[in-house]
Amino acid sequence: MTSKALFAHSALLADGWHEGVLLQWDDAGNLTSVQASEAPQGVPQARFVMPGMVNLHSHAFQRALSGMTEQAGDSPDSFWTWRDLMYRFARRITPEQMSAIAAQLYSECLRHGYTSVCEFHYVHRAPDGNLYARAAETALHVADAARYTGIGMTMLPVLYSYSGFGEAPLKPEQGRFRSSVDDILRIIGELDAQRGPQLEVGLAPHSLRAASVQQIREALAGLPVQRPVHIHIAEQQGEVKQSLDFSARRPVQYLYDHVEVDQRWCLVHATHLSEDEISAIARSGAVAGLCPTTEANLGDGIFPLEPFLAQGGVFGVGSDSHVSQSPVEELRWLEYGQRLSQQRRNIAVSPKQRKVGDFLWQAALRGGAQASGRPVGELAPGKRADLLVLDEQHPNLHGLAPADVLSTLVFSGNDNLVRDVMVGGRWVVRDREHVAQPAIAARFRQTLAELRELRS
Ligand code: ZN
Repeated sequence: MTSKALFAHSALLADGWHEGVLLQWDDAGNLTSVQASEAPQGVPQARFVMPGMVNLHSHAFQRALSGMTEQAGDSPDSFWTWRDLMYRFARRITPEQMSAIAAQLYSECLRHGYTSVCEFHYVHRAPDGNLYARAAETALHVADAARYTGIGMTMLPVLYSYSGFGEAPLKPEQGRFRSSVDDILRIIGELDAQRGPQLEVGLAPHSLRAASVQQIREALAGLPVQRPVHIHIAEQQGEVKQSLDFSARRPVQYLYDHVEVDQRWCLVHATHLSEDEISAIARSGAVAGLCPTTEANLGDGIFPLEPFLAQGGVFGVGSDSHVSQSPVEELRWLEYGQRLSQQRRNIAVSPKQRKVGDFLWQAALRGGAQASGRPVGELAPGKRADLLVLDEQHPNLHGLAPADVLSTLVFSGNDNLVRDVMVGGRWVVRDREHVAQPAIAARFRQTLAELRELRS
């Protein structure tokens, strides 16, 4: 028996928990066999094993802002006043600092059970507004952080040309984000040299505010087939109003009228939807990329989850601005937002799955995997060996039946129940600590000190 094996007393497979499962993987980190088994001699064992979650929306550098924007200003605070602070922060940050912040973030994501991240990366240019010698310089630094920490990545270089609908020119503070279709295809080309089992490369038109539908069509035409495409959409009522003023269409309607949206797409936020738009997204098979803690933090609104699910809609979760690095918190808030607004309980379920925690985790795995464009989100042959081992000694889990594990994980308490994390066949978190935690934390502290000096 090789060492590339783990025996799970209980493993979460696509159709639920199974007792006695032997997982085996190859040198490339892909699962080769997932089979019912007795516990074999000499193979490591674990009580509860489940697939790691996909974080389908991240702006890694914003991790350094988390907790720093929670003070009221003179006028009512909103997404838009938060954004001004974020712009100021992004003005000076170096590629090395981005990498240090991303490494800290990804190590935290891993410790909390995310094993993949979709990085929606838009700070491409140097502070002077020019592209770096390598157009993908900043994206490559963030991808380095993913490689260093071990998290699987879908890098999504962001097409960002305008400050508003109708090709409104960028503001000076958006100069580092500026990218044309040609810039983005060049950045994708440079990143493609590093594509592999741990890195997929896609495309992200920032929003219908920052990219025209003509540009989106051009970028899609230059993108290799089957790559993931993510876009921010309908996050704010203000954005819906701007879209209506410009096009007489709501944002999702406007996008669907002009671009063929299919299963490759992830519509991030998609908070403010008409009945028709809910149906259009569900019918197209695109993933709704929900970020409940950030959407709550920014005062965005509440996604219409129940009608979307009733029509077979697919969703996943992301940590976006990183006020939280825990998939548990995203899923919990997703359900709680619905309960609070509807004054009912147990909303995220299906006719086949009446347990909310199980439904949420499994559905977010499927949607997240689809949005990532990578073979993840399931313990099955051919998928990446990305898995979590829960802390069976924790009082919440000790002696618990597998059928109650996900309800407990998602809805009980604030302790992190993830003990060990494997990505691509490699243990990256052992006994709750990332294997490179001291070095990552030291570099992050140094970077924060540098950034604070710049601020004063
Ligand atoms: Zn975002």
